[in-house]
Amino acid sequence: AASSLGARVRSDFKLLDQDIWEGKRLVYLDSAATSQKPASVVRAMTEHLERDNANVHRGAHSLATRSTASYESARDKVAAFVGAADRREIVFTRGATEAINLVANTWGVSELGAGDEVVLSVMEHHSNMVPWQQLAKSRGVILKYARLDALERLDLEHLRSLLGPRTRLVSIAHVSNTLGCVNPVKEIAALAHAVGAKLLVDACQSVPHMPIDVRELGCDFLVASGHKMCGPTGIGFLWGRLELLEAMPPWQGGGEMIDTVTLEGVTYALPPGRFEAGTPAITQAIGLGAACDYLRTIGMAEVQAYEHELAAHLHRGLSAIPGIRIYGPPVDVATDAAATHAHRAALCAFNIEGVHASDLATFLDQEGIAIRAGHHCTQPLHHQLGAAGSARASLYLYNTHDEIDALCVAIAETVDMLRMLEDV
Ligand code: PMP
Repeated sequence: AASSLGARVRSDFKLLDQDIWEGKRLVYLDSAATSQKPASVVRAMTEHLERDNANVHRGAHSLATRSTASYESARDKVAAFVGAADRREIVFTRGATEAINLVANTWGVSELGAGDEVVLSVMEHHSNMVPWQQLAKSRGVILKYARLDALERLDLEHLRSLLGPRTRLVSIAHVSNTLGCVNPVKEIAALAHAVGAKLLVDACQSVPHMPIDVRELGCDFLVASGHKMCGPTGIGFLWGRLELLEAMPPWQGGGEMIDTVTLEGVTYALPPGRFEAGTPAITQAIGLGAACDYLRTIGMAEVQAYEHELAAHLHRGLSAIPGIRIYGPPVDVATDAAATHAHRAALCAFNIEGVHASDLATFLDQEGIAIRAGHHCTQPLHHQLGAAGSARASLYLYNTHDEIDALCVAIAETVDMLRMLEDV
């Protein structure tokens, strides 16, 4: 059953089996920043390095052939994991940030000009804001931001009102890394396409946690980072519709991305090679492929169902703490028909009256509990929420209900102690 998933997979994650201080068991609640890695992912990378390591593509020797096969097989695994129609639709990048920059600097630079409009939301991660702001500055592109509704979700009606004949792109997070809300991407795709715009989905916080099918979502681009989905750092991907990728100019120039080079000029390889200049992150891509295998074997519907339980438990537990303000929608809010709108992710960003988020995180670390404090790369959102920063607990498939209880007890004790210190 879903409710025992955390306990079942726990032993796959060796790192979790440690004391941070004597007698203080690690409680890792920072998976939205980066996830831990199961043994199968570590093993896949180690085995590659110990057995097959060589540069990929065009190598005539056996190791090069094996490395190429493993690297390209990782592409197949990612393609299947997100429901891509064609393996050539997966471009390996350093992470989601690089994938968004790639779209902005290729599709954006060739397609967008002065007066064209890009619609974002105020909840976007800096990596889905800054590349577009740079394009706005260099090309005269106009940015518009969809605001939050009263429940601190995306205001879909406001987003709709921002769309018009000059809208060329909507670029939006599937799940907010601060609010935890799940945005109705399917509806947004329909709205964007109705005005002739494309949709880019920042799926950093959704691909690791729920079944994703790019064709069902109806988006045009989707990006994610490997390290948040049980894979290593240094690898992520862009999925793009093949006809879009084929029409896009290259970004970085170098080896691997060419067809022919003469002293006079160059012709470019077809996608995805066109966008993978230089030696790629081979070992990391293989690790990401193994992460897809791992999650697929468990089943993403199972992961989603279990995390839904965790999300409810976390939200209820934290809500009981006096003076707490949790950002984002309530956990089981009855909403419109859109099922994707109906629940939130297993993460909560919050502040507690009179307590600095960073003090709280430091005190919790003394208990072995790892949470994040800061702006979580969503400064404009925090500004909207009237907070400089927040504390954030974010969960994954290996967390348990007991860990959430430990968090809530430790927070209550910390708050009591800090208040007592203040009274002295
Ligand atoms: N978008 C969202 C919603 C994120 O949570 C993150 C990572 N915090 C990113 C983009 C950027 O991912 P990366 O730093 O791995 O490129």
